[in-house]
Amino acid sequence: MPIPKWTIKGIVDDYDTCGCCARRGLKRTVALMPLDADGNEDGTAEDVVYYGTSCAATALNWTQGKVTDTARAAQAERDQRDAYARRMINIYAPVEFAPVRDKARVYYGRNQHRLDTGVKATEEVAKLLAEARATLADTTTGPARPSRIEDFRRYLVIFTSDERILLVRRVPEEEAERQEQAATAQRRADQIRGTVRVVAALDAEAARDVAYADELTREWNTKAWQAAHA
Ligand SMILES: [Zn+2]
Repeated sequence: MPIPKWTIKGIVDDYDTCGCCARRGLKRTVALMPLDADGNEDGTAEDVVYYGTSCAATALNWTQGKVTDTARAAQAERDQRDAYARRMINIYAPVEFAPVRDKARVYYGRNQHRLDTGVKATEEVAKLLAEARATLADTTTGPARPSRIEDFRRYLVIFTSDERILLVRRVPEEEAERQEQAATAQRRADQIRGTVRVVAALDAEAARDVAYADELTREWNTKAWQAAHA
């Protein structure tokens, strides 16, 4: 079987013009990365082309159904990688410039299996952050996603008495609304003998991660948010 010339990177709602036949008004296009003769990806985000599903099917010699299914699966994978990147940024960006001791405690607190391997926390944190930022900056299937501490928003998290998350809500910007939300949440938590935590995060999923994290991680999360909004 000949090696295909393209690999599908995902599905794009923003581009409605086919890069192959210039047909306009498409509901979505498929992001295709060129492959070299050995089947390796041959380029960066700039080399990706966007074809309608019918032209993509012709280019790959596949059915349109296979193109759509593959593109959806690739996009779901990208979305998962984005979510993971946001979680890594949420945990580690606040300690990026923290004292090494705190950075090491945060890192090894989450990676206890690596404690004896001689892995240096500072290097690992730098690596994780670089990868996460590159993931969110990748524009193959859409604009770059927020990735800075300045992009964090506050979330209120209510825990049950057995330390499970009951609910997560965005904290409103407006002070009166914010106080009302806090009071309502506290009443609800008191009823179930739960607790309320407010954390700063890139999205609700990352907020859950921070809310569950150890005290030191949460302390640095608060400091980072305060520094960004001083
Ligand atoms: Zn086309």
